[in-house]
Amino acid sequence: MTTATMTGPVPNPGSTLDALTTEYNLQLVEWDTTSLDEYLRDKFYAHYLALRDGRRLVVVPAGQDPDVRVNVVRSLITHLGEDAAPPVEPRHYSWCAPGVCIGHRYDNGEILNEHIGAELRLPIPAGMRVHYDELLSAQLVSDENLVDETPCVSFNSSGDGVLLTTAEFDTVIDNLADFLDGLRAMRAQMTSPRAEGSS
Ligand SMILES: [Zn+2]
Repeated sequence: MTTATMTGPVPNPGSTLDALTTEYNLQLVEWDTTSLDEYLRDKFYAHYLALRDGRRLVVVPAGQDPDVRVNVVRSLITHLGEDAAPPVEPRHYSWCAPGVCIGHRYDNGEILNEHIGAELRLPIPAGMRVHYDELLSAQLVSDENLVDETPCVSFNSSGDGVLLTTAEFDTVIDNLADFLDGLRAMRAQMTSPRAEGSS
């Protein structure tokens, strides 16, 4: 009688899912399905949505079993087949917005591309006026015509912008996360009552 031995690490559904969504450029969105009728809730496993801005979402029910989720997302990718991973145009990035990159042709026939990704914009609240109708926007760019063509983020506000490197963009993301935390705290304060008593 031989004893079965385990070889290799135990598969972690979370990391498998991360690898799948990264490979197929999918964004996972959890949805609270409690508003659905029970007979539908039990049958809702995952839904694929391709947005016009190029984002590809997979909507899954919140609280779904991790193993079930991995299998569902994997079968969904299989079902999507060729649609799941759009082929990247030669000499372009997977993040290039379709038909937006600018090619510069040189005398020797060489074409160098200015790569431009989809623009991300923070909507302007109703009643607020902002120069250039832009509160905050960000866009991934890379220019092969420059000495350094490392992709960077064009970060803009009211018409003024700056190109951010990876480290600089990390700082902006951290600052925005702190700002968002502050907004959420403020939102909670909005509905907290004033203390009782006489002065
Ligand atoms: Zn491109």
